[in-house]
Amino acid sequence: MEDCLFCKIAAGEVPSNKLYEDDQLLAFYDIDPQAPVHFLVIPKKHIPSAAALTEEDGALLGHIFATIARLCDSLGCDGGYRIVSNVGEDAGQSVKHLHFHVMAKRQMGWPAG
Ligand code: AMP
Ligand code: ZN
Repeated sequence: MEDCLFCKIAAGEVPSNKLYEDDQLLAFYDIDPQAPVHFLVIPKKHIPSAAALTEEDGALLGHIFATIARLCDSLGCDGGYRIVSNVGEDAGQSVKHLHFHVMAKRQMGWPAG
């Protein structure tokens, strides 16, 4: 999608600190990390947010979560990790392309701010 930062990152038109890539998704480090490990996982296809997901995206979501588990394992996130996807203004979604924050290697507070 035109003028979508994460579409441009997925297409390699904007550089990123890439962690993993395949035909369906890209994982890259957040430019403003909120934890010692903080990366984002995005589908390569443009989906505006989790609110736009449909039943047809089930396999993609399974692949995203399985990839997150594998990446966290390879990064040694043995103490656990948090997966967050902000939807809309109240949640603070700043980039309107579905992304999952994965944060680890510090104690997380609850409830989330
Ligand atoms: P959200 O506020 O949930 O929409 O998350 C967007 C995230 O994208 C923020 O944590 C930003 O720090 C991150 N971000 C914005 N631009 C870039 C970029 N060029 N490379 C990596 N992360 C980015
Ligand atoms: Zn996009």
